[in-house]
Amino acid sequence: MKWRCLSGILLLSLLVGCDNPRLHLHIVFKSIDLEVSNNSQAYPLLLDICDRYGPRMAGTEAAACAEELAALLFRSYGYDSVFFQPFTFNQWQRGTARLRIDTAGTFTDFPALALAYTPSGNVSAPIVDAGNGLPNDYTGIDVTGKIVLIHLGLLPDTPPHVRNTHRAQKVSLAIAQGAIGCIAVNPIPGDLPTTGSATLDGGMIKIPAVSISYERGAALRNCLAKRKCTARLFTENSCIPAHARNIVARLEGYEFPQETIVVGAHLDSWDISPGALDNASGAVSVLDIARTFKALNLKTRRSIDFVLFMAEEQGHYGSELYVREARHRNRLDGIRYMFNHDMTVSTYGFNLMGRYESEDLIRETGMIIGRTDSFFTNVIAHFTYLGSDHAPFLMEGISTFTPLCRYETYHTYHTSADTPQYITPEMINSNVRTSAKMIYALANSPVLPATRLNDEQLRQYLIDNQLQEELVILGDWIWN
Ligand SMILES: [Zn+2]
Repeated sequence: MKWRCLSGILLLSLLVGCDNPRLHLHIVFKSIDLEVSNNSQAYPLLLDICDRYGPRMAGTEAAACAEELAALLFRSYGYDSVFFQPFTFNQWQRGTARLRIDTAGTFTDFPALALAYTPSGNVSAPIVDAGNGLPNDYTGIDVTGKIVLIHLGLLPDTPPHVRNTHRAQKVSLAIAQGAIGCIAVNPIPGDLPTTGSATLDGGMIKIPAVSISYERGAALRNCLAKRKCTARLFTENSCIPAHARNIVARLEGYEFPQETIVVGAHLDSWDISPGALDNASGAVSVLDIARTFKALNLKTRRSIDFVLFMAEEQGHYGSELYVREARHRNRLDGIRYMFNHDMTVSTYGFNLMGRYESEDLIRETGMIIGRTDSFFTNVIAHFTYLGSDHAPFLMEGISTFTPLCRYETYHTYHTSADTPQYITPEMINSNVRTSAKMIYALANSPVLPATRLNDEQLRQYLIDNQLQEELVILGDWIWN
């Protein structure tokens, strides 16, 4: 505490009369480094959230307790403007999933997990291998009335130009092709099935869809190459209306308060693990970035909304609500960036998602960040996808970006192994300090290059970033 006061005073005195913007940033960034290395609460908080609440599936009691804790923490850091955004949504509830494979009269039970929004079902049919489950994979095969086997990633023999899509698009395509069941293979080795939503709009899908481990998937694919296999797929699940709340802490800008940078992360997890990586890592990052701003008494020209979204996993419900509210209040044009933190550890650069107009500013800021941080190598990437809370913002033409992270723990993604044991304080703190610096620079930049795309620009942006096909499959392409 003593050191925090001292560093705050030191910083303020250094900033008075500092006319050189780069020097100013350098001084602030050094203070952020000191604050995070001495006082970060991100890692203990990650342990606390995971151990105390366990899985935080939106709509459950554990999730509601985590929402309360987040609001309490924001207030304890010194935020006066902390509020909930409550909403109701269609919560999927996991029941039983059984998968039995019949290979020439030999029956084997495969450990399987239902993908979320799988209905109750009981189907039995021959299995057809549809490779990666992308549109081209269905050329020359007929899956009508069959159970389709798809890889959730890209198989090793996939040509390099092929782009992977979200599991929801793959399941949606399998249904459109006439499959009556779907077996989705975890693309990451580790002998565990994976979960995740099989829909992006939160309604029950039409067929049972389960996941199996990478290893089981490889064995089944080998088997199918030699002989016919049949699967019996039994699932029992339900949906109920449930309640959840986003938590927002607002830091008011002193010069352009109507302009906002949204810094978001989802606080919810799946039901099968406490979601240490997905997404306690992002949630505690946002909380500790917010804490750091108050601890150092950092002032910004623009406003910052620190937001913990709920029900991302079940269909981006919280972020969609935030965007709807902003539209209702005529605030969408004022949102200059949405900076999303979903599985954010070991940050070494930024993914600008095809919004090239910000590249110079982010790269120049990154160069200053790199001066005091040997881990951060200022890599700029442009990889665009729709599977997280930035998507509702992106679809409104708002510039979205994310930290670029090194995934030492990615094998735990959406499995029962997503526990804190694979995460270290340094992995989390690297994201907290780097992202805090970038947010500070953007919120104080005299001008920001990114503005909201108009309808035609957005259409072109989605085409240029290869999102059109995915949106068409999902029925969300609004242009002809
Ligand atoms: Zn996530």
